[in-house]
Amino acid sequence: MIQFATLNTDPKATKTNLTSEVKEHVHVLILGSGPAGYTAAIYAARANKKPVLYQGLQAGGQLTTTTEVDNFPGYPDGVTGPEMMEQLQRQAERFGTEVRWGLATAVDFTGPKHKVWIDEDYLIEADAVIIATGATAKYLGLESEEKFRGSGVSACATCDGFFYRGQDVVVVGGGDTAAEEATYLAGMCRKVYLVVRKNYLRASKAMQDRVMRTANIEVLYEHVTKEIVGDQTVNGVLLTNAGGELVKLDVTGYFVAIGHQPNSDIFKPYIDMDETGYINTIPGTSKTNVPGVFACGDVQDKHYRQAITAAGSGCMAALDAERFLG
Ligand code: NDP
Repeated sequence: MIQFATLNTDPKATKTNLTSEVKEHVHVLILGSGPAGYTAAIYAARANKKPVLYQGLQAGGQLTTTTEVDNFPGYPDGVTGPEMMEQLQRQAERFGTEVRWGLATAVDFTGPKHKVWIDEDYLIEADAVIIATGATAKYLGLESEEKFRGSGVSACATCDGFFYRGQDVVVVGGGDTAAEEATYLAGMCRKVYLVVRKNYLRASKAMQDRVMRTANIEVLYEHVTKEIVGDQTVNGVLLTNAGGELVKLDVTGYFVAIGHQPNSDIFKPYIDMDETGYINTIPGTSKTNVPGVFACGDVQDKHYRQAITAAGSGCMAALDAERFLG
């Protein structure tokens, strides 16, 4: 799932002209306002750590771009993404979290106090920082993807697949995510077209086998998405094949699964991460390589990416921060 405040600014670029005047000192600073950030805030606030939470570019995170959330425990009748995020915010505020607009644009984690610049010129020093900045689903960049976002176009089969029960859909991508999304959707849709730009899948052998064993998945190798078409909602996807011919698929859903970009760029000079930018945490904890800096949610999770797993890791981050602060 999940798309968040994009903090992707070039750290070197943001290093210039930064104010060194500390405007505020906070105990626990939380960056990001998805389920991870708000859950961390609820726990930290209840522990009397007076957290300050900056929402980032997309207040509420990726869930605000989905419609119905049916898989978060505790909502037997479902809840819309924006409604759930509003409730999480209220819950965090109820215990004293200060929720603010603003985007972390640079950090300096070299000293005993952690420096975070908000919107370039507001410098905060924090005893502990919880990074919950999420990840952003990559899209192909077609105008029609924008146009039908939320009404036929999705980047999360687990979130939105349910709405396409018994229908035909397209999944774009050839990696593990695409293979996983395609097999998940195949369980509820009539037909799933997996559109792969190369003549092979990049997904692991095990995932490829699952795709091949699933009767209602058809893999279209060497096909590229040209356009998504429809009226109010999607009713087809236009592709070009290896021979340059135009192919139209009559589908009602288009799932893009070409990867996610963790929103971690500004932390790169200080925080250990893998080659794709996911923050490395010490297994079983939310601790990063910098004492007092913790990470939770999608920015450190490329496997599960669910609201509930993000919330769970937010809880871990708050408890780890609490123990760190003593
Ligand atoms: P990947 O980067 O592994 O794969 C992205 C896929 O999207 C590739 O097939 C790529 O094609 C394709 N793609 C990228 N850009 C475009 C484009 N513009 N047009 C068409 N196709 C495009 O991303 P994933 O999200 O699949 O996986 C990320 C990481 O997470 C991987 O390490 C993966 O193993 C892991 N993961 C593990 C899971 C598990 O273990 N259960 C589940 C999900 C992810 P091409 O091959 O041509 O570059």
